[in-house]
Amino acid sequence: MTATLRTKRLTALAAIVAMTILAAGCGDDDAGSGDGDRLSVATTVAPITSIVANIGGDRVKITGIVPEGTNSHTFEPKPSVAELLSQVDVLYVNGLKLEEPTKELAERTMKGGADIVELGTRSIPASEYAYDFSFPKSGGKPNPHLWTDPLYALRYAQIVRNDLSKRVPDGGAYFKANYDRFKAKIDAFDRAMRTSFATIPRAERKLLTYHDAYAYFAKDYGWDVIGAIQVSDFEDPTAKEVAALIDQVRETKVPAIFGSEVFPSPVLEQIGKEADVKYVDVLRDDDLPGEPGEPEHSWMGLMHFDFVTMTEAMGGDASALKAFKPGDVVPDTAEYPQ
Ligand SMILES: [Zn+2]
Repeated sequence: MTATLRTKRLTALAAIVAMTILAAGCGDDDAGSGDGDRLSVATTVAPITSIVANIGGDRVKITGIVPEGTNSHTFEPKPSVAELLSQVDVLYVNGLKLEEPTKELAERTMKGGADIVELGTRSIPASEYAYDFSFPKSGGKPNPHLWTDPLYALRYAQIVRNDLSKRVPDGGAYFKANYDRFKAKIDAFDRAMRTSFATIPRAERKLLTYHDAYAYFAKDYGWDVIGAIQVSDFEDPTAKEVAALIDQVRETKVPAIFGSEVFPSPVLEQIGKEADVKYVDVLRDDDLPGEPGEPEHSWMGLMHFDFVTMTEAMGGDASALKAFKPGDVVPDTAEYPQ
């Protein structure tokens, strides 16, 4: 083989490689045609992953970080999460200081031009942050659970719609259509919630929970959070505090108190027994019900489960909520670490 011929062959090969790269690049106009072309998104807790999936649909590749069923408040990402973060175009977090270790890792490892978007922090002015039993002002961390309130979940979806529209060329109409369907479904959910909650006298809508996850929801939907067992350092209360809570439960005459599926609480069980009220230990705030791919495995399925549970435990009629079928507005292909 002469030197000239070899050069020609190499040139031809280079041309083919270049054409292949160009052809692959064309997919950018048509995100969704292949994984390599899709905007790459990371999310933290599962409810946020689900909300982002409802807007992003098949035009973004979504990978969750916090495994379901782990305590998101104390979660520390494994070093392997750095690998994912180094590749994504955007990281959606709740903010309000929920995911500080993940945020710090992201700031160190994300590529140039990639962004961290704090959905919660952008949804509420600091003057409206809730500080309460588990999240006292002195601790410096506000109650971060905005997503358990459908009105804030809708704001998250709106921010995601606007943000994705900027990042994905020609994606705007698709994300808007998904958002509009998601909004219509949340509106119907909201109506079913209000109808069901109205069957419980306002004065009896009292929540004593283990994990303090419903502050914003309670304010918007006419419930009172009368206490939370889990204190700011995620430890159980002292014997004296438990005794005071038992008195409080007896005085307020609530028919039920609520535990969290993620934080089993012998203390709350004890309070329930001694105050002679039902102890319902299945509420969840970030562990989605069902398995990935099932309709209840969604932000909406999670909240629907909680609100039916609360209504029935309080002696209300949850039939309006039960007639409403929660689920995703587009197939959810996000990755949920288990
Ligand atoms: Zn929580």
